Amino acid sequence: MGARITVLGAGFAGLELSTLLSESLGARVQVTLIDQSDAFVFGYSKLDVMFGRTVLDAVRLPYRNFVKPGVRLLRESVRAIDPVTRRVTTDVGIHECDFLVVALGADYDLAATPGLADVDEFYSVAGANRLRDVLPTFAQGHAVVGVCGAPYKCPPAPSECVLMLHDMLVGRGVRDRCEITLVLPLPSPVPPSPETSKALLAAFDERGIRFMPNRRVAAVDAGRRMAKLDDGSELAYDLFLGVPKHRAPAVVEAAGMVENGWVPVNPRTLETPFPNVYAIGDIAATGTPKAGVFAEGAAKAVATALIARIRGQGEGVLYGGAGTCYIEFGAGRIGRVDVDFFSGPKPTGTYHEPDIASREHKEHFGASRKARWFGL
Ligand SMILES: Cc1cc2nc3c(=O)[nH]c(=O)nc-3n(C[C@H](O)[C@H](O)[C@H](O)COP(=O)(O)OP(=O)(O)OC[C@H]3O[C@@H](n4cnc5c(N)ncnc54)[C@H](O)[C@@H]3O)c2cc1C
Repeated sequence: MGARITVLGAGFAGLELSTLLSESLGARVQVTLIDQSDAFVFGYSKLDVMFGRTVLDAVRLPYRNFVKPGVRLLRESVRAIDPVTRRVTTDVGIHECDFLVVALGADYDLAATPGLADVDEFYSVAGANRLRDVLPTFAQGHAVVGVCGAPYKCPPAPSECVLMLHDMLVGRGVRDRCEITLVLPLPSPVPPSPETSKALLAAFDERGIRFMPNRRVAAVDAGRRMAKLDDGSELAYDLFLGVPKHRAPAVVEAAGMVENGWVPVNPRTLETPFPNVYAIGDIAATGTPKAGVFAEGAAKAVATALIARIRGQGEGVLYGGAGTCYIEFGAGRIGRVDVDFFSGPKPTGTYHEPDIASREHKEHFGASRKARWFGL
């Protein structure tokens, strides 16, 4: 019988980890991959759906197409985790294993921001899909894209959102009747890369988009159409597009695995304090951004470590904390930033101006994962 590995969460991290284990070990391993959803959706597809560039059905990647030797993908909801015995209870049954990998991502804590549940957010699939019908009805007034807490997934995404909103309003001939403001709890749009931040700030300036750094939305009053910021000031809006505060899923917190909001890990090996239990992706406190490309990097490190342990030879590679983020500048222009968190004394980001190569890179990024994970 092969080693039993249970992977909780079939997102960026869980899909990549299970794929690598299957590729290297095949039937020598029994991977049980558990997710409560029936399909995977790339984070950036949410922006495409909300701005009407595509429809949800076109970007949902059903898990039934994830078929790998040695891997069972179960549609179950994780209800309890015992990291000491590596015993997982779901709505369907109990799973025991030799190695447990927690990859349940970040949840949205709507309750942390009073009033947020009464307005629109674009970070969930359902929220982005709802906005598809809302945005075409917005033709005048003040649009506020407001982030309710850091860390949040994909740091450039709120900046992309305001630039894409600008484009949509220009296309409909109503931009001069609208104002756009971005409220961000960071000092700049992409802090590890001053060059990228400079390019985004210039893009905001050119388009008359107001940027409010170092502020977070603390409450929303949908009745008065007023967003309250953490400095006590208020911002009147006609359209509010929120990014909820993020948190670790409650089931992981209840398992006693969370400290200061996230699961503490050795940032290079992704080991938790519990023997043979790893945490990867958005849920893990690695110090790197919450983004798919980083979740994948962490998955690679854990895959190589598990493969080495199961084969009884070699060593795993360490998580490098580096990755490329693509940034939609609007008008179909895509820039990119290569971020590196661990090589030097502080994080760095190398900016690449929007060009054809970046568009091709982004298309390849999505297409290659679709092919690798889902055979599509
Ligand atoms: C608008 C937006 C744009 C983005 N753009 C990019 C981008 O361009 N590039 C990039 O790299 N990243 C981007 N991201 C970020 C990226 O989507 C996430 O960082 C990435 O998905 C994290 O991977 P993960 O595996 O840690 O978690 P996830 O992909 O979130 O996967 C977690 C999985 O766990 C499952 N789950 C949770 N709780 C339970 C439970 N109790 N029981 C069973 N299953 C459960 C969920 O269903 C989910 O499938 C973007 C995100 C957003 C919101």
